[in-house]
Amino acid sequence: MPPPCSRCASQHITNLETVRKLGISAGALAGSLKGTYTSLYSPGRLLTSSIPLTRIAAAVIAAATSGIAGAAAGNQMIQHLFPAGEGTPWLCLGCGHSFRVLD
Ligand SMILES: [Zn+2]
Repeated sequence: MPPPCSRCASQHITNLETVRKLGISAGALAGSLKGTYTSLYSPGRLLTSSIPLTRIAAAVIAAATSGIAGAAAGNQMIQHLFPAGEGTPWLCLGCGHSFRVLD
């Protein structure tokens, strides 16, 4: 049961730990897709019916690399929202206030 917001008393709050986990996977996914897309459809190298295997390997490597970068960026972004201190971090969806509650 989430506590009410300590600023506006709204019940619409979300656990920042969950958001961070979602953010990491979303960032990784977005990064992977972008990496795959960029390497397969980079300018001057149009996708043809016969993609060389090396090209696929390069795409996979690019996807993995971008995925890591995307996850790191997502993590950093969420980390920025985390309030200092101990306890469970919460983010109010009503007013954007973030706070911690000791269990
Ligand atoms: Zn609030």
